[in-house]
Amino acid sequence: MTAKIIDGKAFAATVRGEVAEHVARLKEEHGLTPGLAVVLVGEDPASQVYVRSKGKMTAEVGMNSYEHRLDADTAEAELLALIKRLNADRDVHGILVQLPLPKHLDEDLVINAIDPEKDVDGFHISNVGLLGTGQKSMVPCTPLGCLMMLRDHHGSLSGMDAVVIGRSNIVGKPMAQLLLGDSCTVTIAHSRTKDLPQVVRRADIVVAAVGRPEMVPGDWIKPGATVIDVGINRIGAPEKGTNEDGSVKTRLVGDCHFESCAAVAGAITPVPGGVGPMTIACLLANTVTACCRANGLPEPEGLTA
Ligand code: NAD
Repeated sequence: MTAKIIDGKAFAATVRGEVAEHVARLKEEHGLTPGLAVVLVGEDPASQVYVRSKGKMTAEVGMNSYEHRLDADTAEAELLALIKRLNADRDVHGILVQLPLPKHLDEDLVINAIDPEKDVDGFHISNVGLLGTGQKSMVPCTPLGCLMMLRDHHGSLSGMDAVVIGRSNIVGKPMAQLLLGDSCTVTIAHSRTKDLPQVVRRADIVVAAVGRPEMVPGDWIKPGATVIDVGINRIGAPEKGTNEDGSVKTRLVGDCHFESCAAVAGAITPVPGGVGPMTIACLLANTVTACCRANGLPEPEGLTA
């Protein structure tokens, strides 16, 4: 079998198009422009790239983008004061604090200071609780993107066996909650799981969110299963030659060994071009949803869990 490639890049473009339509309608019919505030503390290069691209895409769909860049040694009180101001700002519907934060800042304290209704990353403890109890919440962007791709591919997920590899608060746990919400039978596997290959072989749906390059080989995959590869790993690619400084060039790979998994799976997301683009699209979708909720308007269909 050769798997259907689930094109996350194209799907994300469709989602962004739907978001842009909702934004235009909110402006025209209600005089509202959704606004997303992104807070970056310090100069982590990867975070800077993410924040830049979030700002660009926010503007592209017609929303207001507010960037707050703070020095790496910013005091916790100063960051909390900024969040308080953003919570009170009626033009700001979504607030995202880019993680990881510098070590002297308490991430849990900072995230839980965000108004849960503006918590477009879905990491606030209230949103975690609401999702866990099947209530309306803000859903973390990466798992939401995975769910959208799965629903698009399968229609109903009811009764399917799903294995999520990884139990992080950002991906693994909320992913498992969402699959449970769609009536899958869910197993969460992690670093202490016994006989991981056997566990994965049971799955109709495999979501890999580990952060270990090409860890899942094709012979762990049940024929015809759907593989969602969340991992983003950079590995050396000597076949691409060397950089000017003599170092070996690199390439991105997922947590699944693409070629061998694609030979067995029914469908698979590539890396890059799979889950990654969906994450930002879902951040934009969450911001529109937050804007609608804040103004008592009906939520956009198909853009929430
Ligand atoms: P994390 O480090 O917080 O969690 C990794 C999880 O993997 C842990 O729960 C751990 O128990 C499990 N694990 C580690 N070794 C294992 C093993 N040998 N067998 C089974 N399980 C094992 O990571 P995270 O934040 O959840 O991210 C996971 C991956 O997803 C990373 O590569 C990250 O870059 C990527 N990611 C991608 C996006 C995206 O937009 N595509 C978003 C978030 C994270």
